[in-house]
Amino acid sequence: MNHLTDKIKQFLIPAAIMLPVAVCIILASRISILENRIAGREAYEELGTRESRLVQLSWYDENVYPGFEGSDSSFISEYAGADLSEYIPEQTANDVNTIQTADGLNYASDTASDGVHRVYLTFDDGPSIYTDDILDILDEYGVKATFFVIGRENTASYARYLRIVEEGHTLGMHSYSHVYSDIYASPEAFAEDTQRIRSLLEDVTGQTPVFYRFPGGSSNDVSPTDVRVLADYLDSQGIIYFDWNVSSGDAGRVPLTSDQIVRNALAGIETRDTTVILFHDTAAKRATVYALPQIIEALQAMDNVEILPITYDTAVIQHNIG
Ligand code: ZN
Repeated sequence: MNHLTDKIKQFLIPAAIMLPVAVCIILASRISILENRIAGREAYEELGTRESRLVQLSWYDENVYPGFEGSDSSFISEYAGADLSEYIPEQTANDVNTIQTADGLNYASDTASDGVHRVYLTFDDGPSIYTDDILDILDEYGVKATFFVIGRENTASYARYLRIVEEGHTLGMHSYSHVYSDIYASPEAFAEDTQRIRSLLEDVTGQTPVFYRFPGGSSNDVSPTDVRVLADYLDSQGIIYFDWNVSSGDAGRVPLTSDQIVRNALAGIETRDTTVILFHDTAAKRATVYALPQIIEALQAMDNVEILPITYDTAVIQHNIG
């Protein structure tokens, strides 16, 4: 009997100690998720009116970008990731127009030849000081877009992730770090980075992001790891990646004016069923913000053109890889 009691004690005492410890660890992690969400919500509520944001923006321009004249070459180094590989012209051109449906999946129901030209505005590398401006413009024109964001852990960014979701846009992933040499170092590194951005966005917005854009695109030639392996990994996680078939050119080595960005973005819209336009949403990309109203107005004036956010219904635009 005593022997049995000893046995029970041997199990019960450690269990009695370990269980509360485990509960505490789980609760602590829940608390940190909720804290992120609350901080984002508070910052979101503090964003204030558009007018107050514009005041902040002009303060930002004057203090951070003195002498800014609509060309952003000297401000590139401000970009938080400080990863200049983004500014090597991406393997992109307005003539890339490959539509592939991922293996075995056929979710692209909006490709039906119904004569509608579907246009998807996509913004990479945010959130930044300009995200709010872009969201304001989209709101003004009643347009939904797609933001492929990177990981930025501060309340202003949490607020912007939330704003994107709450205003009905698609929040996609564009890696956590955006540092090519880290992300593409190995399949494991890629998986770790992807999980990191996914859980950050989940923590902050309460929604699981399902769309991804490879930094540099899936056709980038900087990844030492075969991008097809990484694409398979995304597929295994239920994540769909999107490239683009039109580049606005706003991240090239030579900064473009707003007019040039407008021209690039609008080229050949009526020749395609699906157009996914690449823009950038970083603090160095003010010309993009200036170009956006013109682009939207031109698109809205075209016949049979719809501007949409990326969803499961979107025809998948992927570059040919391998
Ligand atoms: Zn990028």
